[in-house]
Amino acid sequence: MSAIELQVGADGIAVATINLAGKPMNVVNDDLMGPLAATVERLASDASIKGLVLTSGKGDFCAGGDLDRLSRLPDAQAAFDVTTAMKAVLRKMETSGKPVVAAINGHALGGGLEIALACHARIVIDDARLKLGQPEVKLGLLPGGGGTVRLPRLVGIQAALQICGEGNDIAPSKALSMGLVTQLASDRDDLLAKARAWCLANPKARQPWDLPKFRFPGGDSRSPAVVQMLAIAPSIAAAKTWGNYPAVGHIMSSIFEGGLLDFEAASVVESRYFAACATSQVARNLINTMWYQLNALKKGASRPAGLPQRKVGKLGILGAGMMGAGIAYVSARAGIDVVLLDTTQEVADRGKAYSQGLLDKAVKRGRSTADKRDALLARIQPTTRYEALVGCDLVVEAVFEDRAVKAEVTKKAEHAIGADAVFASNTSTLPITGLAQASVRPAQFIGLHFFSPVDKMPLVEIIVGKDTSPETLARGFDYVMQIGKTPIVVNDSRGFYTSRVFGTYVMEGIAMLAEGVHPRSIEVAGLQAGMPMPPLALQDEVSLSLGLHVADQTKTDLAAEGKPYADHPGMAVVRHLCELGRIGKKAGKGFYDWGEGDKSLWPELTRLYPTAAQQPEQRELIDRLMFAQANETARCLEEGVLRSVGDANIGSIMGWGFAPFQGGTLQFINAMGTRRFVERSRELSARHGARFEPAALLVRLAETDAPVA
Ligand code: NAD
Repeated sequence: MSAIELQVGADGIAVATINLAGKPMNVVNDDLMGPLAATVERLASDASIKGLVLTSGKGDFCAGGDLDRLSRLPDAQAAFDVTTAMKAVLRKMETSGKPVVAAINGHALGGGLEIALACHARIVIDDARLKLGQPEVKLGLLPGGGGTVRLPRLVGIQAALQICGEGNDIAPSKALSMGLVTQLASDRDDLLAKARAWCLANPKARQPWDLPKFRFPGGDSRSPAVVQMLAIAPSIAAAKTWGNYPAVGHIMSSIFEGGLLDFEAASVVESRYFAACATSQVARNLINTMWYQLNALKKGASRPAGLPQRKVGKLGILGAGMMGAGIAYVSARAGIDVVLLDTTQEVADRGKAYSQGLLDKAVKRGRSTADKRDALLARIQPTTRYEALVGCDLVVEAVFEDRAVKAEVTKKAEHAIGADAVFASNTSTLPITGLAQASVRPAQFIGLHFFSPVDKMPLVEIIVGKDTSPETLARGFDYVMQIGKTPIVVNDSRGFYTSRVFGTYVMEGIAMLAEGVHPRSIEVAGLQAGMPMPPLALQDEVSLSLGLHVADQTKTDLAAEGKPYADHPGMAVVRHLCELGRIGKKAGKGFYDWGEGDKSLWPELTRLYPTAAQQPEQRELIDRLMFAQANETARCLEEGVLRSVGDANIGSIMGWGFAPFQGGTLQFINAMGTRRFVERSRELSARHGARFEPAALLVRLAETDAPVA
């Protein structure tokens, strides 16, 4: 069956409805481009057709390029050819001499928007949820179907740089105001009526760039304003990306160079940059993790199969502090009734007030309405009474990080809730199996580790205790999906996965300080590596005293279990700074002096830890920071803490911001190859300590250079 159904009306306007068979969404691939080429051919040759309306038979207009096809492209030439072929069809469509209108009924993203840009007009249903945009950059790609050529000619170079360089979604009303779309419509009927009317009113439509007197809106790449902007744009981008995202530079080059050239030449330049991006390791990493693995997780790859989906109707939260208040907000936002319990009514009320604050801000900024705010707040019931928990499907405990306090609230809550309810702990460090000892039904006990701030952080790490049942895991998983977060599933262990590996990053940076590496070089290495925050600043943010507390707790626990404990070489530095009262940002002093919205490295640091005369190369520092995390992740997999490569990669990027362009901690190893990773790990181990000895799992895989799978 053809992906396009064509119906010619009595008025001579043909409506082409795109409906790709076997796909939930329309995507740009050969199955679509073949029929589109045939449609364009018919438009050009059939005198009875006066104009064409392109629309979609699915919920979306077209979601973008087919990444399956892209992943199979063998080389740069193939990438160049595939986009050149698409461009030829679109060019023919816009130069046929007859009007073509995109009737956009749902998302038009990436290649989907590029098809719409090659139409003479774009009419869009005015629904704030409908997304328009060129998100390719987020997967290390560049819009290769004419996006960097038509957009600057339609909305100007500056707006095009923003749309393609940042990749954010644009709502229909904003798209109208910036000239990206021609008209808005109220619903599907109105959309098609307006599209037809536009065709009939513009029988000889041509694109602005095909008119003899065409000028770029806001000037082409020679105009002073644009030259000025382009002089600083690369340095602004480099300051943000440290050169780790080649697509950003290629997008700027394509737009800038295209702004000096005619349409056809600019199109060829774009195809070359597209080929460079499409075959880059960065795009492979991002597509592997942020597309395939993320989609698989969201579809339930880590959820026990065959168990019915459950929803939480009523949720109990114990502890209305920072985490409890945040969990209440995201849950009420998802339509769940929330009981927010603390030791005094005043503290419970304060927890609810946190939601009020967030919502007031949203209303003020026009992102929500007073009615919606009030409805959400009405769902949160602050209380001190355990009886209020009756009828809860799930209780999340977020009280102090103290075993005795947690045990006490577990008992009290279980007394009140039904036999079927699940009990979850939001502990960040205490093993779940141990906490479950306070429970009378450990099979219904699970860890749901949220990240702070809860309303912004996308990940929840689900921890399966020794006795946690598959049903409980499935219900925890469903709840995380219900509140719109991404779940990863790990087995119980000290620090679970995310805290344990995240710790190796900051501690490696701190160990460098003790060795006499200049603190600024350490911080720059973290940023060059692609981490969102450098290690010393990050330890200040989470607080040195917390790090020390966790280390001491671990030492005590291991001693009780009769197991050895070895201090990380960075720990002596943490201890020393804590003794000096420099416990981090919350005290205004740690590795940095923290001022009002500003911070600077504490000058005395280099006196306490004198800078060595011979400084290592930045490459060595970057490798230490990255290998420490990747190797610890491989150990988590080997020990069965991690259950899948996808959980590891997604957890690292979404949990603590592991350099996204590397595609996650295990993709970092796979992209390099296990053989090279093991060789380099041994070099690092010889120079910096046994913590770099490669995990046994990697040594085994390195024999055949097989990837971690
Ligand atoms: P917090 O100190 O802000 O809040 C704890 C709340 O629990 C307080 O409001 C306190 O009054 C209340 N509480 C204490 N004892 C109670 C009891 N017996 N009954 C009812 N309420 C009681 O702490 P937080 O940062 O929200 O952390 C809570 C939990 O979440 C801890 O286990 C922590 O390890 C974990 N966690 C924290 C973070 C983080 O970044 N802060 C991240 C992930 C997990």
